Amino acid sequence: MPDAISRPPFQRPAWIEIDESILRQNFTIISREKNPNVGIGAVLKDDAYGHGAIHCARIAAESGAKILVLVTLAEALELRREGIETPILLLGQRQPEDIPYCVDHRLTCCVHEMGLVEQIAREAERQNRIVPVHVKINTGMNRYGVRWNEAPALIEGILAHQTLQLEGIMGHFSMSDEADKSYAQFQLNNFRTILGWLDLRRIQVLYRHHCNSGGFLDLPEAHFDLVRIGLLPLGVYPSAVVRRLPGLAPAMAVKTKVALIQNLSPGDSVGYGMRYTADVSRRIAVLPLGYGDGFPRVRNEGHVLIRGKKAPLVGGVSMDAITVDVTHIPEIQQWDEVVVMGRQGEFEISVHDLATLRHSVSYDQLCAWRHRLPRVIINPTHPPSDLSSNSTDP
Ligand SMILES: *Cc1c(COP(=O)(O)O)cnc(C)c1O
Repeated sequence: MPDAISRPPFQRPAWIEIDESILRQNFTIISREKNPNVGIGAVLKDDAYGHGAIHCARIAAESGAKILVLVTLAEALELRREGIETPILLLGQRQPEDIPYCVDHRLTCCVHEMGLVEQIAREAERQNRIVPVHVKINTGMNRYGVRWNEAPALIEGILAHQTLQLEGIMGHFSMSDEADKSYAQFQLNNFRTILGWLDLRRIQVLYRHHCNSGGFLDLPEAHFDLVRIGLLPLGVYPSAVVRRLPGLAPAMAVKTKVALIQNLSPGDSVGYGMRYTADVSRRIAVLPLGYGDGFPRVRNEGHVLIRGKKAPLVGGVSMDAITVDVTHIPEIQQWDEVVVMGRQGEFEISVHDLATLRHSVSYDQLCAWRHRLPRVIINPTHPPSDLSSNSTDP
């Protein structure tokens, strides 16, 4: 029979580093910033924005997160398979086929309409369970959710089912990270209308939540019982104008190594489309990663860090290679470490810098780094002893 192809004991010279001690520190800083009664819902969708959902889920739970927030059924089942028992809230809309799995694995659904409520209630009855649900209120995002003025009917519908527990009421900000908070205030007012109605009806819910990272930072009056934060614990701010938390730092860095050093003569051009032509004799370094790994597909823009110096990109970014000018770094050696995103010496290339190159936002750049880049966890640490009561580690 054919031999299994064995995995080499070394990794590709291009990788993602996740700093566990920074991740824990970020959760600690965030926890200090909020009222102790406010719980954290750690948003770990899209593999924790590329940081590794399983690892981040453990850190979040050990840091006291009450709920882990995901989107797809597969993401949630993977955490359950890994033995993570923390409550999970699934955002978005479920298809009918998902429901038996959600009930069986205690995945809490957001509900926006009566059809899904009926399906969950039936499945709860079939599995002989009381199943929590969170009602998503459309307070102005106009994506998912029941319009705030139509929510009472849906809530009454949920309360009519013995097998359902109204555990949460939630909304979602569309502009919480911008300087102008007037739309956020409009949404908050709509949310408060529903909370007022719940009070009048004397309906108790465990979790009222409306904040993402921007809301958490800038709208403390909107914290209620829980904040759903994804970007901030990773040490990245949702925008340039939100409040800063001293000590918060990015947990992710992207690194590679110098694969080859080439000498260019005047007039030589580099890469596809001859996008760069050397004016004088120059040296360039070839780096073994490209847009196939998630680097923005730019030309003659941006830089990397080598030996504590900035090396500007020359030519276009290929699928598997980028080329940088290192004429001013004569000490460079083949296989020197290169920082593509992160700190080296006195310089930092932030995720925002790279997001700007791709004409997008940091969320997009974080999620753009591909899985073919190995993810390496550095600075592993122990959970803070006073916060580990929520630990779900076996
Ligand atoms: C992604 C998401 C969040 C988290 O947003 P961050 O800005 O990353 O904190 C919260 N709530 C909902 C509904 C989301 O989709």
